[in-house]
Amino acid sequence: MSTLPSDAPLPTPQRVLSGMRPTGALHLGHYHGALKNWVHLQNEHDCFFFVADWHALTTQTQRPEPGVLEQRVYDMVVDWLAAGIDPERTTLFIQSRIAEHAELFTLLAMSTPSSWLERMPSYKEAVADNRELATYGFLGYPLLQAADILLYKASGVPVGEDQAPHVEVTREVARRFNHLHSPAAPILAEPVAMLTDTSRVAGLDGRKMSKSYGNTIAMRDRPEVVDEKIRTMPTDAQRVRRGDPGEPSRCPVWAFHELYSDNETRDWAAAGCRSAAIGCLDCKQPLIKAIQAQQQPWRERAEELLADPKRVHWIVEVGTERARAVARKTLREVRHALGLSY
Ligand code: SF4
Repeated sequence: MSTLPSDAPLPTPQRVLSGMRPTGALHLGHYHGALKNWVHLQNEHDCFFFVADWHALTTQTQRPEPGVLEQRVYDMVVDWLAAGIDPERTTLFIQSRIAEHAELFTLLAMSTPSSWLERMPSYKEAVADNRELATYGFLGYPLLQAADILLYKASGVPVGEDQAPHVEVTREVARRFNHLHSPAAPILAEPVAMLTDTSRVAGLDGRKMSKSYGNTIAMRDRPEVVDEKIRTMPTDAQRVRRGDPGEPSRCPVWAFHELYSDNETRDWAAAGCRSAAIGCLDCKQPLIKAIQAQQQPWRERAEELLADPKRVHWIVEVGTERARAVARKTLREVRHALGLSY
């Protein structure tokens, strides 16, 4: 498999593409798992970041209320911008606004063996858990992802280990298309997976941070909300009384120290926990402060953007037009290779 670890960047500025399903306001798990890396990547590469709203439909088994999806899309874009994604340097767009994604998906489907999709671990596992997901759309979602990537001739795709097979399928799809339809001058570029450390960010209860578990801290949670959430977090269950020694590795709070505290604070917390020299509320204080300090500029930028929704729409509009120009060019080449230029 062609992959690049996160510490081996692409050699020169290259086009990098990544997307997120519109989940609404983002939480710290989204930030540490992906968005932080995007902010970093935009300094080195020509980044295309998109709202994967069609992908959201592939697992949606119930119809959402009108307007909900749109709200989620723009809440998420506000969080991207608040976190530091710079629309001057990156191309931000919405997948469903560029019909070329669907056209390339259809055209690639003609030469992609269905077995390539049926064998994807993500498909097999999800369908085994929930038969409602056994739809053609969900089966085809790695191919739609391949179309998303190949449309922009992206060189790199930042992914966690679990998504690397999808980049590999994209490479196979591109190779097969080029071999069948354009052997002399390959049209579709094979991207590499830029392996990113997406090791799960623990939530307030120690499980993966996820809206479905109700254990999140939102990027824009107000300071008093963060204070309340951290103060009421469960701790090492064996530390029943203040005088009982505890063990950080058994405590969900410790995962936050690993993310937010420097060595000195971590040493202080670990020693204080094991000797019962500090209480759990003492231990949580530096975390509350660190998270609130990180969120403050996000909240300020988000407030400005929310006060001016036309600006956010304009940013998306400009990015979508820029992306569409690239997508159209690739599609022209693909149609020509398939003999469809009439
Ligand atoms: S002192 Fe800190 S690490 Fe130890 S149990 Fe309490 S919150 Fe957890």
